[in-house]
This record gives sequence, structure tokens and C-alpha cells, in this order.
Amino acid sequence: MKKLRLVGGQVITPLEVRFADILIEGGLITAIVPQEQSTPAFENLDVSGRLVTPGLIDLQLNGGPALDFWGKPTEQELEKFTREQAVGGVTTFLPTLITAAIDHLVENIDWLNKHAVNGNLALAKGLSARMPGIHLEGPCLSPKRPGVHPPEHLQPFSIDVLKRLIKPGVSLMTVATELDPDGEALQFLQNNGVVASLGHSNANLDEARKAFDAGVRMMTHTFNAMAPLHHRDPGAAGAALMDDRVTCCLIADGLHLAPETVSLILRLKGPRRAILVTDAARIGTTGGGLVGSSIHLADAVRNCVQWQSASFQTAVRMASYNPARALRLDEKVGHIEVGKFADLVIWNPVNLSVERVLVDGQILTLDDKTVEATAKTGK
Ligand SMILES: [Zn+2]
Repeated sequence: MKKLRLVGGQVITPLEVRFADILIEGGLITAIVPQEQSTPAFENLDVSGRLVTPGLIDLQLNGGPALDFWGKPTEQELEKFTREQAVGGVTTFLPTLITAAIDHLVENIDWLNKHAVNGNLALAKGLSARMPGIHLEGPCLSPKRPGVHPPEHLQPFSIDVLKRLIKPGVSLMTVATELDPDGEALQFLQNNGVVASLGHSNANLDEARKAFDAGVRMMTHTFNAMAPLHHRDPGAAGAALMDDRVTCCLIADGLHLAPETVSLILRLKGPRRAILVTDAARIGTTGGGLVGSSIHLADAVRNCVQWQSASFQTAVRMASYNPARALRLDEKVGHIEVGKFADLVIWNPVNLSVERVLVDGQILTLDDKTVEATAKTGK
């Protein structure tokens, strides 16, 4: 692997903004040096005037034009899909499975573990984005808030159901914790190292608080598939917004949430306690209803900036550092720091389009025409 130096960029780590060069060796960031210091052994990549951020991390990705994870994807579709994601700036994501028959879910979990998912964050052969784990969005969801999840496959939130589903590779699970009033199923999840996120839930304020007191620290697509915020009944959304221990995931596409609602969440949660996700799916918002979204995570970043809901630095943080921390991936991704994977995105500073992406210090090339088209439209 060649030694590479990213020269002249504005580096958004994203905890700070620096004018510095990044040295890459063996796929890792090995130093961040002043722009005037010379390093003759390195090949230069000129990123003058460009913004350099960590690769983006999407914790809720159901699919896109190339596939739906809940279907029966092929290896070729997976390759194409991860390439589309990476070229668009998402270098790490959790493939997300929605509610289905338990046997089908188990089959898909096994397939993902075999072909893609690697808890060590290593890139699977032929793929362009890391998949450190699987997000199970269901089936232990409230029958009162199923969204588009098939109601016939919803399951109780019980240890019996979890024993069939929780396998190596499953790292995040969206659950309606009110279905488990004694907290045993939640405890089982936590004992197995799975991060629980409250979502597709009909929990009221007290039930949500109880979940947070029991260690739940995330909310799945805040405001979607849960009770709205009522002035006399703030519900689970109100509980999450007011609890500083809880990080709120949100879909900033302008359809799942109005721009003003995105701003409201970010004002209450601040830059540390919000995560941008896409919930993207093949059908997305084109099918008439809200069957997941049709955006890429870079669109969510741009939307937050355009709507003046967040600065670019904060928007990037919500799509890289914060999700990495929430899933304990921050040892290796989500931050520009010595020792981290050289997964980097180079942005145009004017229109915030993604110009170049590096994964493992390798520059991704746009040799596949369909990928190029996807990257350009950002859809
Ligand atoms: Zn959902």
C-alpha cells in the first residue's frame, strides 16, 4: 500500500476544525501534520480548499436501488450497494432488517454474517464499506405503532424470541420496551452486548423513562412510529428529548420530519446527542407512503446545513462521530485521528457535494457508470 498525504484541506475531525495535512500508511491515519512540514516519502493528493471529514456512518440502512436487505440479496447486489454507499460518502453502516418471519430473519442474519458483517470492522472481500454489525428493526415492536412492518410477524419482546434472533453480528435492536414491563428481555439484550434503541413504540412518558433508567440510550427515528408530542402527554418522544442520557436518531429528509422539527430536536439534544440516519430502502418515499427514505446520509448532512438546523461540522459529527460512539465503534472509525482507519470524505466547500472518498486509504474510483450516476444525484 502506498503512503499518501492529503494536502491543503480543511480537516473537520469533527470535534475540531484544523488546517492540516493527513498522512496515511497501511490504510491507517498515521499523522496529522502542519501544512508546511514536508514528507518526501509520501505521494501527495491535493485537496486544497476542500473539506475533509471522516467517512459517514449510517446506523439504519435497509437498502437502496441495488437491494433491500430484508429480501434475498445476492453477493453481486451487495457489492454494488456497498460501492454506491461508499462513493456517496458512507464508509460504515449497519445493514438493517425490518420485521419478518423469524426463520427469514435468521436466514438473512446468517447470510449477512457470512458475506459482509465483521465485528472487527474489517472490510469484507470485494466490498467498499464496512459492516460492523446488523440492526434488527423488529420484530419486537408495538402492534399500535408498526409503521410499514407487517403486523402478522410482530413478536412479543421476550427472552424466547430473542434467543432465536440474537446471534453474533447483531449489534443494535429497535424494540418497544413497554412490551417487557419487568425488563427481563431488555436485560437479556444488554447481557448479550446488543445496544437497545426505543422505537416503533407506544410507550408513554413514564414507560419511556423506565426504559432509559434501565439503560436504554437511543431512540429510533425520533417522532416517527411513536405518539406525537402532546402538551399534556409528551410521550416517549418528550421523554427522550428531555433526557440528557439519550441520543435521538432522526431522518432529516424533510418528509419524515419537517426542517423545523429537525431544528427543534437538535436544539434540545445539542451536537452530542443526535444521530442522522437515512432508514433508506429500495421503495423509499417513491411508493406513495413513507417506506423508509430515499436519501443518502450525505443528503441528510446537506439538509441540516441548508435548513440552518446545524453547522456543517455538527451535521458531520451527527453522521460520523456520534453513531460511532453509540455503537462503540469509535476506536477505529468516525473520527480523524492517528490510528483510525483512513476512511475519509472530500467535500466541495460551496455546494457540499461529495467529490472523493477514501476507504482504508484507497481512493475509490468511479469506474462503474451506474455508481457514478448514483453518486451525482445523491439519490
Ligand atoms: Zn421504522
